[in-house]
Amino acid sequence: MEQLLQSDPRVASAIADEMTRQEAHIELIASENYASPAVMAAQGTHLTNKYAEGYPGKRYYGGCEHVDVVEELAIRRACDLFGADYANVQPHSGAQANAAVFMALVQPGDTVLGMSLAHGGHLTHGAAPNFSGKHYNAVQYGLDPATGEIDYDEVRRLAREHRPKLIIAGFSAYSRVIDWRRFRTIADEVGAWLLVDMAHIAGLVAAGHYPSPLPWAHVVTTTTHKTLRGPRGGLILAAGGDESLYKKLNGAVFPGQQGGPLMHVIAAKAVAFKEAMNQEFVRYQERVIDNARAMAEVFIERGYEVISGGTDNHLFLVSLISRGITGKDADAALGRAHITVNKNAVPNDPQSPFVTSGLRIGTPAITTRGFDRNDCEQLAGWICDLLDALAEGDSAEAEAEVRSRVTELCARHPVYAGSASSSEV
Ligand code: PLP
Repeated sequence: MEQLLQSDPRVASAIADEMTRQEAHIELIASENYASPAVMAAQGTHLTNKYAEGYPGKRYYGGCEHVDVVEELAIRRACDLFGADYANVQPHSGAQANAAVFMALVQPGDTVLGMSLAHGGHLTHGAAPNFSGKHYNAVQYGLDPATGEIDYDEVRRLAREHRPKLIIAGFSAYSRVIDWRRFRTIADEVGAWLLVDMAHIAGLVAAGHYPSPLPWAHVVTTTTHKTLRGPRGGLILAAGGDESLYKKLNGAVFPGQQGGPLMHVIAAKAVAFKEAMNQEFVRYQERVIDNARAMAEVFIERGYEVISGGTDNHLFLVSLISRGITGKDADAALGRAHITVNKNAVPNDPQSPFVTSGLRIGTPAITTRGFDRNDCEQLAGWICDLLDALAEGDSAEAEAEVRSRVTELCARHPVYAGSASSSEV
């Protein structure tokens, strides 16, 4: 940082401000986490200087002998961690991993079936403004409004009616366990490929706290920075030994979608995969789920509607429809109290996607910084106090009160500053 401060004080100062924000605010965005100092150290290395188009042993550039070691380690560890026999560690992001799978398996104009954005799917699962909705004939499934859970009969009905070439299972906002086997049965019935995007739950899967999709999906994609707690990036996995599929996937990543891989990020992925093999990581994921359940229970006790009635994973969705407040206003009020969440659409949301009537709350980051069940129950109570005040029309006092408690709680659980005392990073 010292060197950066000398050479570019404006960027250095913005980075310092962001570090302060991460320490002093409570992070409840379900897709965020705090990477370990080792992961960040690997990412900030000389490997950023190296071009390595191609794959280990088959590069288009010289001088790749050391980055080959790194990429081979990352591939081997990813396979070991998830029980896969194929891994591509080069996708720059989750969206690019999905784009590569589309490129490998379907043609523009083909029909694909994925969960709608409004019901918890990701943009890349067929949403209209995304490549997946623009270049393919995207059909979307959603949640059963009565249960808040995936309606598998409806997925099957849509699959039989539209005969997709590709079915996508996975989510950005869904709090229950997905029945991967059922998705595979539907895919087989209509002759479709099954892609599982486990971006949100990869850490839980690695730790054995969420069923692995590897035995059921033809291809699995993920990000590496959410529950998995690595650097920002993407990953493609598969099991089953279909070498011609693996070749197509590799070709779709490079040269299909990308140029040179980010070798510094791949090094950081390798470090994160090693960390995820540790027993401490397994216990961490257990606490992530326990903390999410503890928070969801408080919301329910306080009369808030939690979609699907609870959670089996690291996140849950709160509907604010009955309170007459919007996700946008709730998000802003909590932000003023130094609690970061994201507004989120809920099933049958009367508001636009930019306003919404819900909040998505996730526990990966707070669990990394050492929040326990008690901290989480307290925190959920403060959020309810603030939302109650907002519903009554004036939340300024509640925001100030919660902000001071947040400051105290954050000081007790430093993220990086007190790494040795902080329980995880
Ligand atoms: N897939 C899912 C299910 C996600 O939730 C996300 C990101 O939130 C992505 C893919 C995209 O990942 P990235 O932001 O790395 O492109």
